[in-house]
Amino acid sequence: MTAKLIDGKQIAEQINVENAVEVARLKQQHGLTPGLAVVLVGDNPASAAYVSSKDKMCARLGMHSEKITLPAITTQTELLAIIARLNQQDNIHGILVQSPTPKQISEEAIFAAIDPGKDVDGFHPLNIGKVAIGDPSGFVPCTPAGVQELLGRCGVVVEGAHVVVLGRSRIVGRPVSLILSQKARNANATVTVVHSKSKNLAEICRSADILIAAIGVARFVKSEMVRDGAVVIDVGINRVEDKTTEKGCRLVGDVDFDAVKQKAGLLTPVPGGVGPMTIAMLMSNTIRAAKMRHGLA
Ligand code: NDP
Repeated sequence: MTAKLIDGKQIAEQINVENAVEVARLKQQHGLTPGLAVVLVGDNPASAAYVSSKDKMCARLGMHSEKITLPAITTQTELLAIIARLNQQDNIHGILVQSPTPKQISEEAIFAAIDPGKDVDGFHPLNIGKVAIGDPSGFVPCTPAGVQELLGRCGVVVEGAHVVVLGRSRIVGRPVSLILSQKARNANATVTVVHSKSKNLAEICRSADILIAAIGVARFVKSEMVRDGAVVIDVGINRVEDKTTEKGCRLVGDVDFDAVKQKAGLLTPVPGGVGPMTIAMLMSNTIRAAKMRHGLA
C-alpha cells in the first residue's frame, strides 16, 4: 500500500482563509480587532523564525500583533512584569511566550502568570485542567488542536479508533492524548500513550488505527511499527545533516517517511503536515479569546 499524503499546508490555508473572514467580520460588526502578543527571550534562531511567522500571519489575517524581543539575560521577574502588563492591555487578547526560555526562567511560572483567558497556547494549569476534564471553555494547545483538526478535515473517523500517541510531553503528547479521548466530536478514541519507559513499544504502535508520533527522534517510527493502512501523523521536527542541500541540513519528522509511506494509509509529510496547522490554530485560539473577552463566543 502507498499512503495518501495529508496536505497540512492546504488544510491550514483553508483555516487561515476562514480566520481572515472572521477577523474582517469582527472588525466590521463589532469594531473588534483580535490582538496577539508574542514574547521571545534570547536569540535562538528556530524560535526567532517561529515568532516571526506568527507575527506575519497576524498581519496577513488583519489582526493586531505585538512582537516583544528580550535579551537572553532577561530575569524571570522582568518577564513576569511584561506579562502582567500584557494581561491588562485591552488590545491584546492572546499572549504567547515562545518556548524554550533561557534557563533562569521557569516556564511553569511564566505559563501560570498568563491570564487564562489570554492563554492562547493552552499551557496555563487551568486550561490544561479543562482539557483533562473535557470542559470546552478552555484553550487547547495549538499543536494537539491542529492534529485533531487535521484528522477531522481529512475525514478520518477518530471515534472508536485505537490511537497510539508516541510521547507524553506537556506540549504535544499528553494534551493530544487527552483531547482525542474526550467525549466530544472528533474524539471518543481509545488512546494509548507510550514513552521512553514503555515495554513492547513496536507491538503497541502496530495495534494503532491512528499513530501520532511526537518524540523528537528523527525517523524513529519504522514501517514494522505501523499496521497496513494505518493513519500516521508525524508531529516531529528534527534537523538532520544533508550535504546535498545549500544549508547542509534539512528537516525530517519522527517517522521514517519513505518506508512508512509504503505501509500507511494516510501520512503527514514533514515539513508541510502538522507544522502549518499549529500556527493556524494559534490564530483561531486568539480570535476565540477576543470574542470571549467581548461576550461574542
Ligand atoms: P519532548 O522532548 O518534550 O518529549 C518527547 C517525548 O517522547 C517524551 O515523552 C519522551 O519520553 C518520549 N521519547 C523520547 N525518546 C523516546 C524513545 N526513544 N522511545 C519512546 N519515547 C521516547 O518533545 P515535544 O513533545 O516537545 O516534541 C516532540 C517533537 O515534536 C519534536 O520533534 C518537536 O520538534 C516536535 N514539535 C512539533 C511541533 C509542530 O508544530 N509541528 C510543535 C511542537 C513540537 P519520556 O517522557 O519518558 O522522556
